[in-house]
Amino acid sequence: MAQVTDHRGGVRSLSVPIPDNPLGHTLVYVVDTDRGPVLIDTGWDDPESWDTLTDGLTACGTSVTEIHGVVITHHHPDHHGLSGRVREASGAWIAMHAADTAVVRRTREAPAERWFAYMAAKLAAAGAPEEHIAPLRAAPPRALPGLSPALPDRDIVPGELLALPGRRLRAIWTPGHTPGHVCLHLEETHPARLPGHGRLFSGDHLLPGITPHIGLYEDPDDNRGALCSSETESSGEVTDPLGDYLDSLERVGRLAPAEVLPAHQHPFPDAAARVRELLTHHESRLTGLLALLAEPLTPWQLAERMEWNRPWDRIPYGSRNIAVSEAESHLRRLVKLGRAEAVTGSDPVTYVAV
Ligand SMILES: [Zn+2]
Ligand SMILES: [Zn+2]
Repeated sequence: MAQVTDHRGGVRSLSVPIPDNPLGHTLVYVVDTDRGPVLIDTGWDDPESWDTLTDGLTACGTSVTEIHGVVITHHHPDHHGLSGRVREASGAWIAMHAADTAVVRRTREAPAERWFAYMAAKLAAAGAPEEHIAPLRAAPPRALPGLSPALPDRDIVPGELLALPGRRLRAIWTPGHTPGHVCLHLEETHPARLPGHGRLFSGDHLLPGITPHIGLYEDPDDNRGALCSSETESSGEVTDPLGDYLDSLERVGRLAPAEVLPAHQHPFPDAAARVRELLTHHESRLTGLLALLAEPLTPWQLAERMEWNRPWDRIPYGSRNIAVSEAESHLRRLVKLGRAEAVTGSDPVTYVAV
């Protein structure tokens, strides 16, 4: 049975399951417009999730065939997974920020082997042990999920109102979790007249009880490998996703919405307080990492020593890759702030506090 919540003022949410994932559900929002309902995110591409989505829309008094448009907060498969099926069923447009559309395009074009080769090279550069990399060098065991995501047909332009007849929904670019993540600000009086400015669909950017993953912006065309050392830096700017994320957090805090409608967990009122909590969390994490970097460490060694939700030797394979990417995004921030640097001549490259 679809779980439907009425948030009033022409906004409802459907709790769409994510199979085999501790996150549990994606909250797909249904926003009424003069041209028909518009979805914010769609959910994981799985038969049960699809049934939940379509049943939920029926329970809302509409149907998947009536969907006018699909607005995607970011390209991850728990948000964008079902967009293609919704478009097929309804003829709806799909809108996404250009930076995430570029990721979708790369994902569709790069063969799986190329992704595995990219991952293997990246892990080797991060100092991962050979036994961790070996499975990637062997033939890919199975296709990765979400390798053929739908190509959006509209750009979400930062700062602009989306073309939703009868509604005021403004795109706020919040890079960090992904390069093209957006929050969507519903610039309308809160239906319960809570103090603040409208409501904010926050995607994965601002969640009540989870710190979103901030890794590197994965890109198989990015062969800069090492983080910031001058001898490996090629043309183009080295990205700083954690720096982007912290800036985006402050931007969203300044909007002061009356209520946040996130893509997981549950709605909550005080965006500014949650932003402060997350800024403090990252600040103390960076301070903790600087203490670990009293001795030179590779990103892998740093990840092994960082605090996770369980001991390193009990972290499963895939999560270790995510953890290393998270360690790298923190290292990049510290290097950019001038608080850590690459050790000259180290291979794989190690980093030390300065
Ligand atoms: Zn995400
Ligand atoms: Zn998510």
